[in-house]
Amino acid sequence: MIRLFDTASRSLQPLDAGDRAVRLYVCGITPYDGGHLGHAFTYHTFDVLTRRLRSLGHPVRSVRNVTDVDDDMMRVSAARGIGWRELADQVVRDFDRDMGAIDILAVDAAPYASQHVPAMVDWISRIADAGMAYAVDGWVYFEVAKLPAYGRLSGLSAEEMLRLARERGADPDDPRKRAPLDFVLWQPSRSGEPSWASPWGAGRPGWHIECSVLSTAELGTPLDVHGGGDDLIFPHHESEIAQAAGVGISPYVRLWVHVAMVGYQGEKMSKSLGNLVFVRQLLERVPAATVRLLLAGHHHRSAWEYTEADLDGAEVRRRRYATAARAGATLEGAEAGDWRARFLARIDDDLDAPGALQVADRLADRLVAAGTAGPEDGAALLAQLLDLVGAGSAVQPAP
Ligand SMILES: [Zn+2]
Repeated sequence: MIRLFDTASRSLQPLDAGDRAVRLYVCGITPYDGGHLGHAFTYHTFDVLTRRLRSLGHPVRSVRNVTDVDDDMMRVSAARGIGWRELADQVVRDFDRDMGAIDILAVDAAPYASQHVPAMVDWISRIADAGMAYAVDGWVYFEVAKLPAYGRLSGLSAEEMLRLARERGADPDDPRKRAPLDFVLWQPSRSGEPSWASPWGAGRPGWHIECSVLSTAELGTPLDVHGGGDDLIFPHHESEIAQAAGVGISPYVRLWVHVAMVGYQGEKMSKSLGNLVFVRQLLERVPAATVRLLLAGHHHRSAWEYTEADLDGAEVRRRRYATAARAGATLEGAEAGDWRARFLARIDDDLDAPGALQVADRLADRLVAAGTAGPEDGAALLAQLLDLVGAGSAVQPAP
């Protein structure tokens, strides 16, 4: 049984979907820029989960949205003088290419927010009918005071929520709001922005409602795992829970799994700071398996900082595995089973990929020394285990 650390209960919880496919939803990119190491670390984490579940014979249905209707999207498309749809298509194409290049499995569905706006209007109407939203001058806000549980996922105080709301562009000073933490469900479109009809006038949805609607439309409820970067816990995921409650969906999500941030040069890697390291830059220098070993060398709940030394270490590791695979060793069945069990135990314990790689390191050493002791092909075993972290190609000689 796989256990995952659940942000909501702050504890390890078993992932048990019974006989049906695991419903996995991960927040996707806002397509004006994509494919940096922070994105790769998040999607690598859920890729490992998907690979492990499928190796157990458990079907998974995975969905990752595209936030193509969003303030940042509109700002960048205007600044670059390119249509928002065209910008989204271009960036998504490059992003898919880069994630595919490091063997991140394709998702089953990648819905665009712009394709589901009528359903979002329906949700907002239902939230308003339930008395949890109000409209002012073409804007609609979720009234946080109507939901005492607001803040429970993040566990933040009102002051901390306010600070983060300000930092993350939620505009607590908007004079139309009844309370600073109320969040936008619908807003009027400015000229040149995409616009849809609604009972509150032509406009576009807020960011949070997009994920509530896309996830449930594609997967049904409850979602077994809802994932994303840990900078999405508040306000994005906190607000998703509120919206689901507003239309009577509870529980909305069984396990919330969040991935820590990747830093570079002393800061969180982010578009606004401009300190991004892109997967495609790394692939000009090292094989894809090295990038996967770099990512798998870090636990998804621990923030880390990318350094050249870290990349060098991942490349050394890849060569170690390739050397071990060339040794031509074979193992007794019982010993092979033991290595397999030790590696998988680490993955099943909250996706401990770094712990699993330490097992693989010792297996590699063993293969160099083992000779031909039994019927199990050592190189195939190593490749099979590394494939669970997307690095099966590490055992092949690099091109
Ligand atoms: Zn989302």
